[in-house]
Amino acid sequence: MSQQVARVDTLFLHEAGDDYTVVVQRDGSRVFRGTLELKETDAGPRPRRFLQSDDDGGEPMRPEEFVELARRAERIRISEQTSPEGRERLQAMLDGYQLDALVVRTCRYCANAGRYSPITEETAISADRDYICQDCAVEELERELAYKGQFTGAAQERLEELLLDVGDLDRITDLLQGELDPDLTKFDTISATTDEVDPYPTSDLDLHPELQSMIEERFDSLLPVQSLAVENGLFDGEDQLVVSATATGKTLVGELAGVDRALKGEGKLLFLVPLVALANQKHEDFEERYGDVLDVTLRVGGSRVTDSGAQFDPDAT
Ligand SMILES: [Zn+2]
Repeated sequence: MSQQVARVDTLFLHEAGDDYTVVVQRDGSRVFRGTLELKETDAGPRPRRFLQSDDDGGEPMRPEEFVELARRAERIRISEQTSPEGRERLQAMLDGYQLDALVVRTCRYCANAGRYSPITEETAISADRDYICQDCAVEELERELAYKGQFTGAAQERLEELLLDVGDLDRITDLLQGELDPDLTKFDTISATTDEVDPYPTSDLDLHPELQSMIEERFDSLLPVQSLAVENGLFDGEDQLVVSATATGKTLVGELAGVDRALKGEGKLLFLVPLVALANQKHEDFEERYGDVLDVTLRVGGSRVTDSGAQFDPDAT
């Protein structure tokens, strides 16, 4: 027996076909990996063949060397994924040497790759009706994302955070297939109770001077939904989806951010509405309000139904 496995913290056994993967851990890292084959004897199952595995194949060892390793182990663990028959066989074999083993929940992917990764209720990630470790789960998700090629950067970080949060890989990959999961897609919540919202004074806004004076002339303070939007990063480049009842002041939220940026030369404001009549009305409003300081234009697209279904026909008028 090589010197490197003189001390054994954990001996880990995991069913692999008809044989068993043997992993020796010391100080948290793997110091040995091998394969154990059992034979049936009158006294019960016993080691028949023991093979050390490495990248170039395997080096045969004496079956007794497995017993020596097991005797030196501080603890012997059997993976939960090992079948009941496999566990029984291993226990019976260990019994023959007065050795005990516990069955533990470990990462299935790690176990199949010859690594011992015990997982707990808190760290287990469910995947395909089994449990895997957080590292393997993140790796799986990253593989899925790379395959899809549409989620990178912040979106990827967010999905990984969600994965560790909900502990369910399938639920996250379902989300990628477009299945709506309101618990996961809701990013944040802000209070909608108007009594709790302090009206934001328009004099505290820091807008382009033209817009600032226009707004201050029109209002002393902002409405609740507008105040919430400002307090939650409207002018800090935060993306916002504002859902609010009719006539609660949604338009001004977009208007403030968009017109301010347009005046500061930082971009354009695109205002989309679903009806031509509404488009005409909004165009009139914007022209009247901002026509002197900004270039206000209108485009109307029609929709027509063809044999292949509805099509968008972006005819400018
Ligand atoms: Zn793992």
